[in-house]
Amino acid sequence: MNAEIIAVGTELLLGDILNTNAQYLSQKLAELGFTVHFQSVVGDNPQRLEQLATQAKQRSDIVIYSGGLGPTADDLTKETVAKVYGDPLQFDQQQFERIRGFFHACSRNMPENNRKQAMVPAFGETLDNANGTAPGALFRDGEKIAILLPGPPKEMIPMFEQQAIPRLQKLQKAVLVSRVLRVYGVGESALEDMVGHLLEGENPTAALYAKPAEVIIRITAKAATSQQAEEMCGKTAQQFYDILGDCIYAEADQTLQQTVVQVLAEKGLKVSTAESCTGGLLSQRITAVPGSSQVFECGVCSYANTIKEKLLGVPADVLEQYGAVSPQTAIAMARGSKALSGADIAVGITGIAGPDGGTPEKPVGLVYISVANGETIWVYKLLLAHRNRETVRFAASQKALDMVRRVALGLEMKDCQCFEM
Ligand code: AMP
Ligand code: MG
Repeated sequence: MNAEIIAVGTELLLGDILNTNAQYLSQKLAELGFTVHFQSVVGDNPQRLEQLATQAKQRSDIVIYSGGLGPTADDLTKETVAKVYGDPLQFDQQQFERIRGFFHACSRNMPENNRKQAMVPAFGETLDNANGTAPGALFRDGEKIAILLPGPPKEMIPMFEQQAIPRLQKLQKAVLVSRVLRVYGVGESALEDMVGHLLEGENPTAALYAKPAEVIIRITAKAATSQQAEEMCGKTAQQFYDILGDCIYAEADQTLQQTVVQVLAEKGLKVSTAESCTGGLLSQRITAVPGSSQVFECGVCSYANTIKEKLLGVPADVLEQYGAVSPQTAIAMARGSKALSGADIAVGITGIAGPDGGTPEKPVGLVYISVANGETIWVYKLLLAHRNRETVRFAASQKALDMVRRVALGLEMKDCQCFEM
C-alpha cells in the first residue's frame, strides 16, 4: 500500500518551524511497510489544502495529515478533508466534555472557539488525544483513508503510536521485520560494487544508507508471521556477512564506540588515548558509553609539541625531523600513552583538521592514527580531501575506534603499516 504525508501550516512554509513530523512519519510508515510516494507542506489556506487533499486522495491509499486541528479560525484541516472524503462533521458531547475538562484541570475557562475541536467525523473515526485538546480523525471513502493528527510533536507522536499504528497494522496483511547491519571500513560506492546484487531483491529488500563515516544496511522482509520474516532477514543478512565479514561491526542501534567498550570489557582489556587533532573526541566518545570506566584508562589531549614531549615522551628529534603530523609522531604518541597508562592498547592520533595549516606535502585532512598493544604497533594514514574540520575529526576518531576493535579481537589490520613495539 502506498502512503502520503501532508503537513499543514503556514509557519512551516515560512521556515519558522522545521517539518520534523514528516521525517518521523516517513520513518514510521516505512517500518510499517507502507511506501511513501509524496511528502508535501501546504499553508493554512482552505482552497490550496482542498486542491492538494483531492489530488492526494486520488494518488495515495493512505494520506496522513499533521497540523491545523487547533481551535483558531486558520485551523481548517478537519473541515477541508471531511469535505474531500464526503464525511460531514458532527458535534460530539463526549469530546466536548473532555476538552472542557482539559481547561478545568488547569483552572481555566474554555474559550468558545475550542468548541469546534469537538466536531468529529459522522462516519469516520475519532482519535483521542491524551496530551492536548484537539482530537485526531480518520476519514474513509471506499478504500481511501485519511488520518489527521495534531501538529505539536508531543501530541502527534503519542497519537500516531497509540491510535494510528494499530489501525495501519490492520490494513497491512503481512508482518514486516527489519534488520540493520552496521558497516565500517568500506565506502558506500565500494560497498555497492561488492553487494550490489543483494540490493535488487523485492522481499526481503536491502538498502544502503551512508551515515557519517559508516554505512548502514537495512534488510526488510514481509511475511505472514514475524518468525517467517525474521528467517528471511536472517538468510539475507548471512549473505552480507559472507561478503563483508568483520567489516560488519554490529547490528541495530549499537554504535562503534559501544562495540569497542563491549569488546574490551569482554576481553578484559584497557585502552588509553593520546590525541592531537581530535582534541579528545576519541576519549569523549569512549567515555560517553556507560561502563567505560572498566576499559578506559586515560586520555591525553596533547596539542602542543611541548606536551607531546613532556607527557608522552615523544622525542624532540622525531618532532623536528618528521614533524608533529607524521607516522613517527603518531607511533611515539601511542607508545607514550601506553607507557603513561599501562593500558593493554594505546592510541595516538595526529593530523591536520583544517581549514588552515595544510601544505602540499601535508594537506588538510591528513591524519595518522597509531594503535599499540604489548607486541605490535600499527599506523594508518587517513587522507580525506575536501572535508571540513568536524568531518575530519569525526572520521579520525571513527578509524581509531575500529583499529582498537580490530586489535582487541585480533582481526586483520587492513592497509596499516606494522612494527614491533
Ligand atoms: P497546529 O496544530 O497546526 O496549530 O500546530 C501547532 C504547532 O505544532 C506549531 O506551531 C508547531 O510548533 C508544531 N507543528 C505543527 N506542524 C509541525 C510539523 N510538521 N513538524 C513539527 N512541528 C509542527
Ligand atoms: Mg497551524
